[in-house]
Amino acid sequence: MSGVVVAVDGPAGTGKSSVSRGLARALDAHYLDTGAMYRLVTLSTLRAKVDLSDPEAIAAAADVPLSVGNDPDVDRAYLGGEDVSAEIRGDEVTRAVSAVSAVPRVRTRLVALQRELASGPDNVVVEGRDIGTVVLPDADVKIFLTASAETRARRRNDQNVAVGLSDDYETVLADVRRRDHLDSTRAVSPLRPADDAVIVDTSEMTEAEVVAHLLQLVEQRSGAVR
Ligand code: C5P
Repeated sequence: MSGVVVAVDGPAGTGKSSVSRGLARALDAHYLDTGAMYRLVTLSTLRAKVDLSDPEAIAAAADVPLSVGNDPDVDRAYLGGEDVSAEIRGDEVTRAVSAVSAVPRVRTRLVALQRELASGPDNVVVEGRDIGTVVLPDADVKIFLTASAETRARRRNDQNVAVGLSDDYETVLADVRRRDHLDSTRAVSPLRPADDAVIVDTSEMTEAEVVAHLLQLVEQRSGAVR
């Protein structure tokens, strides 16, 4: 018997990661952060110093053993045996990840891995950009989070300040817009809601409100899950 599978998609800065973790906790579910997987292969590509305009070279450098944890409370990402959980969140990776994740061979490999990791008897919350459309089109519940670019940039900037990075709203806003554009216009798996996804605008909601709302949606759509 398989567990309840929840797909959470949407752009950066919608609170997607905190909300997906909160939902996984509430459902006693595994949590899969597919963005971390794209960040892992991006780090590998950067370390190999390949030309980011060469898809073949990117695909070759990205073909490395990787693993991610499935606990919503513990952020773990490994390249080979090395724990690079902090490094994959750095600026350099963030700047390069859209280019790497646009390479079809990179996506084919990671999508296969994601399907494998999401299968099994446990409830699972899978977070990404193309989970409801491509990775798990049969997910029990599909959620697409949105928020205005300004709201997302403000949240991201607040997070940066909280961890001691510079306070630079305008740069963050420009980066949010740049990544939105790249992610929604790429040829392979552009960012868009699945036809059967529930779209939730989080601009005016707190994190706790969003989690409570999603929990209600999951309970309505998949029956008793706990
Ligand atoms: O979620 P996060 O911001 O960490 O994702 C980093 C990047 O990975 C995204 O900007 C996007 O380019 C890529 N990504 C993707 N497909 C996914 C998850 C992430 O292309 N399912």
